[in-house]
Amino acid sequence: MSQVRGNLFILSAPSGAGKSSLINALLQQHSDMQVSVSHTTRAPRPGEQNAKHYHFVSEAEFKTLIDNDDFFEWAQVFDNYYGTSKAAIEQQLANGIDVFLDIDWQGARQVRELAPDVTTIFILPPSKAELENRLTNRGQDSADVIAGRMAKAQSETSHFDEYDYLVVNDDFDTALAEIETIVKAKRLSISAQRVKHNELIHDLLK
Ligand code: 5GP
Repeated sequence: MSQVRGNLFILSAPSGAGKSSLINALLQQHSDMQVSVSHTTRAPRPGEQNAKHYHFVSEAEFKTLIDNDDFFEWAQVFDNYYGTSKAAIEQQLANGIDVFLDIDWQGARQVRELAPDVTTIFILPPSKAELENRLTNRGQDSADVIAGRMAKAQSETSHFDEYDYLVVNDDFDTALAEIETIVKAKRLSISAQRVKHNELIHDLLK
């Protein structure tokens, strides 16, 4: 069997859909999956660690990275810059690791252009009321901030039909299993399997 490049996946969702928890659970259960650590100019939230959750950088540092062509994709999301560095994904893909990008719809558009084989997944909360509940339960923000988040969630959600797959995160384990199914299907696709089983196919066709 030949070494197959890892597959690239994008997970996008409105804030509060439970995307981070789903990604964490995936990584815990699958050692052959990684999430790319993005760069951002936003300040760390309580509990967030540099180089684990994000590479936290200044706006000047971010712009230097843009000028040096170090980003695979980048976007301004709300009031801050976010970007996926080429370094964050290349080595892992080359080593056959499946890489998840937790990025917004603007980043997803760029990646589709650069890597048409990317598999894109959009995650929805089960209802507007539950979304509001989840954003409120975080307890870190004022009512104004939550109202702002709801508006931004609607704006992010309006791009759902640019994606390949839609997962509704009502029951967590069901949503997780659905994402795992998408990953498994991608691993069984002709584009992945023809490289992995190159020798077998060659042998059978000769
Ligand atoms: P947060 O500040 O809540 O961590 O993330 C805000 C939004 O930025 C989320 O929708 C998240 O997916 C998006 N985001 C995080 N990292 C990146 C990135 O590297 N590129 C792009 N385009 N969006 C990102």
